Amino acid sequence: MLYNQVQDLKGTIRVYCRVRPFLQGQTNGQSTVDYIGENGNIMIVNPLKQGKEARKVFSFNKVFGQNVSQEQIYIDTQPLIRSVLDGFNVCIFAYGQTGSGKTYTMSGPDMTTEQTWGVNYRALRDLFQISKERSDFIRYEVGVQMIEIYNEQFTLTTSTLDIRNNSQLNGLNVPDASWVPVSSTQDVLEFMRIGQTNRAVGATALNERSSRSHSVLTIHVYGKELVSGSILKGCLHLVDLAGSERVDKSEAVGERLKEAQHINRSLSALGDVISALAQKSAHIPYRNSKLTQVLQDSLGGQAKTLMFVHISPEVNAIGETISTLKFAERVA
Ligand code: ADP
Ligand code: MG
Repeated sequence: MLYNQVQDLKGTIRVYCRVRPFLQGQTNGQSTVDYIGENGNIMIVNPLKQGKEARKVFSFNKVFGQNVSQEQIYIDTQPLIRSVLDGFNVCIFAYGQTGSGKTYTMSGPDMTTEQTWGVNYRALRDLFQISKERSDFIRYEVGVQMIEIYNEQFTLTTSTLDIRNNSQLNGLNVPDASWVPVSSTQDVLEFMRIGQTNRAVGATALNERSSRSHSVLTIHVYGKELVSGSILKGCLHLVDLAGSERVDKSEAVGERLKEAQHINRSLSALGDVISALAQKSAHIPYRNSKLTQVLQDSLGGQAKTLMFVHISPEVNAIGETISTLKFAERVA
């Protein structure tokens, strides 16, 4: 295996915690992050509590403070992404309450600014770069697909135009899976643009809705060794999850309540699957949500999983911050 740098990623499940900075216009007020240790520890201070009760330490594989750049985040993710070209399946999740920075990590604030690109564009750029370096002995094809899961239903958000139905690129259990072949970052940017346009809702509505749906970008890699003719397949899922905030049961009614129930159910189903995998349990409950069903082939076995959990530093987010960190500890 050429780029098998995954040995240094012991275990198949990793959890990284990222703290977003205070937003522009907010006072750099009190932060609930007391300190971030070198070895993946973060201490949270709860201003609503007193004495010993007020402080709690959580431990993860890594913790990224508010000044950590998109590039640094990518550097710590890169070995996993490169292993896809060696035939591994990888899932990367962004978890956290709405506004905590999930989309920032996965996509970045703006696809036209390379410097702040998130994991998805950087990953594709890297995959193309390496496949070019290896082109004398392996020929790679890369296909992408984007789906949204909303209220336990799939929607394909990318164009069905210009799709080569390639049965070799068919590792996902989504009905009518359509793969778009891509061979440059330019292609990818176009693909993303189409995906966003196809959602056919205004920007505000899109934001609203995106916080209540899971968005799954799948990158499928198919490689053929030129001399031996042997084939390898790898798959990378980049999942921007629905916001994890609990809705107030007394306020949510109708559609909103239904959405909230679907979200709660699918996020806890995901947590159950990952923690069952982490404990090497004999039964992995994939069937409890659409999300875990879609990703089944890429969770467990030889597959690698990375969960980015996002927290907001504001005092008024403390309740969600603690429940996010508890969720993350359960899967770590
Ligand atoms: P989410 O997808 O979890 O709802 P967003 O990614 O949309 O959250 O982030 C909310 C806001 O915070 C956006 O304006 C985003 O640009 C900003 N933001 C999030 N994370 C960071 C970060 N690490 N550095 C700078 N700004 C960030
Ligand atoms: Mg988002």
